[in-house]
Amino acid sequence: APQERRGRRDLLLPALRALQASRGWISYSALAAVCRELTMPLAEAYGVASFYELLATEPRPRRMIHLCDDVACTLKGAGMLAGRLQALLGHPEQGEGPLGWSLSPCLGQCERGPAALVGDRVWVGLTPEGLEDAVGAWMAGEEARAHAGGVGTHLGSLGEGTPLLLRRCGRVDPGSLEAYVEHGGYRGLRRALQLGPEATLAEVEASGLVGRGGAAFPTARKWASAAREPAPRYVVCNADESEPGSFKDRVLMEQDPFAVLEGLTLAALAVGAERGFIYVRGEYPESHRSLLRAAEQARAAGFLGERILESGFSFDVELRQGAGAYVCGEETALFNSIEGLRGEPRARPPYPAQVGLFGRPTVINNVETLAAVPAILERGGGWYASLGSGRSRGTKLLSVSGHVVRAGVYEVAFGTPLRTILEDLAGGVPGGGAVQAVLCGGAAGTFLGPDQLDTPLSLEALQAVGGTVGSGSLVVLDETVDLWAVVERIARFFRDESCGQCVPCRVGTQRQLEVVSAVRRAGGPVDDQALAMLNDLAQVMRDASICGLGQLAPNAVQSSLRLLGRSGGDERG
Ligand code: SF4
Repeated sequence: APQERRGRRDLLLPALRALQASRGWISYSALAAVCRELTMPLAEAYGVASFYELLATEPRPRRMIHLCDDVACTLKGAGMLAGRLQALLGHPEQGEGPLGWSLSPCLGQCERGPAALVGDRVWVGLTPEGLEDAVGAWMAGEEARAHAGGVGTHLGSLGEGTPLLLRRCGRVDPGSLEAYVEHGGYRGLRRALQLGPEATLAEVEASGLVGRGGAAFPTARKWASAAREPAPRYVVCNADESEPGSFKDRVLMEQDPFAVLEGLTLAALAVGAERGFIYVRGEYPESHRSLLRAAEQARAAGFLGERILESGFSFDVELRQGAGAYVCGEETALFNSIEGLRGEPRARPPYPAQVGLFGRPTVINNVETLAAVPAILERGGGWYASLGSGRSRGTKLLSVSGHVVRAGVYEVAFGTPLRTILEDLAGGVPGGGAVQAVLCGGAAGTFLGPDQLDTPLSLEALQAVGGTVGSGSLVVLDETVDLWAVVERIARFFRDESCGQCVPCRVGTQRQLEVVSAVRRAGGPVDDQALAMLNDLAQVMRDASICGLGQLAPNAVQSSLRLLGRSGGDERG
């Protein structure tokens, strides 16, 4: 009812997405109507609408093909597809017909690219012919027939305790709650309801689980901190998997969605939250559908809602979709996005555990982190901690793509050497080629050289060689790749994705791109002047940026310098 929408600024992004989907762009009059309904200022709503890549505030074709030209898709021929689209539809973003196109940063389909996002569908495994057919079908008004791809995702595991997170993926019907329960689902929640919140938290603490989104913060410490704050509290699942090269969260959401819901429900039980959100990146429409179906079934069966499984614990979850902004993976930017504000990171402190979503104490965890929790409650924190070593406990999912025979999602015990993962699981470089570099941890990660492939996958070991586990992505580049072109793509990515709120990041990412582009245009090498400039920029961005985006933006550039025979400004490179 209109009265219920008054003041509900958190409904702004869903409303803008709905307008975008129905008309292809958001007109002034449509925006004004939304503002009247939500009783909010038009200028602020315009600021939000113009923030996101997938929303348009100027007229453009009703449907856009967002073609990924990020690292993994480019290795598979996205450049040629862009040329084909230009021939078919004209310059990007300029067409006047029903169908237009644009280039897009990583769509998280790296193992089955080249890929494109078209409305609420994803086209994968694109070939020039397949793309032409799909565009032809669309132009002929046969939108439902316009699809491409059908490429599967390789899954595999190696080492003690695996497969754990992947144990149901590809084997159990992800759309069936019954099948989930039959294969161990909700045993963790049943046990936790008997244990109570404190003992549930103690199990997670005993497991040694740390966040899988990149920062590796101890999960139990985050939960305990929020649990000490006054209610109401929130739990949030960060499903904004936007790190280029990372797609394992997508596979979990689409192939084991109940595990994500169960993990979030366990977090809510441990911290005493009655309401949760799952924020799914806008480029993952299938993940959103998968979670939505799962939540409906879970609610109908008493696993969500009032008095879960007839206990005294009530909890329910709302799904939200992003609209194309890498920075919304930063947790405070994600809160702003849900609240209907521009997705800009907040200064800290205060931290989310004290002042998070809607100003309340909030726990926010990544998809993979939450999906690990049901097994911890089912089998015990001590069992989980017995896997791995040091700070690296349990198992880890990896998104492996680029020049490998079997790109896919692999689960390994911590301590497995990178070379074993790339060769035994992913099949090595096709045709027996050699590895030139591996981009480890996405655009915010680092390049490792062939001399570093015997490094074990663990937080400590990778840190010791200047790398990072990060989001757990490995993009393999063989010797045919122009490494500096990849570095330039990453520098452009950060320039484009900076929210612009703070000067070191806004200006630093632009200057970094200019230097990298100039070196590339000149055909290299990186001379002393360019090197000094890159090092200075890296230091300023790391020291003075508000959030992780600016702080991590120089990592890939700096680490590539070692491979190009120049030393970066810090030992991490
Ligand atoms: Fe925005 Fe960059 Fe500053 Fe983060 S570091 S707040 S992305 S300008």
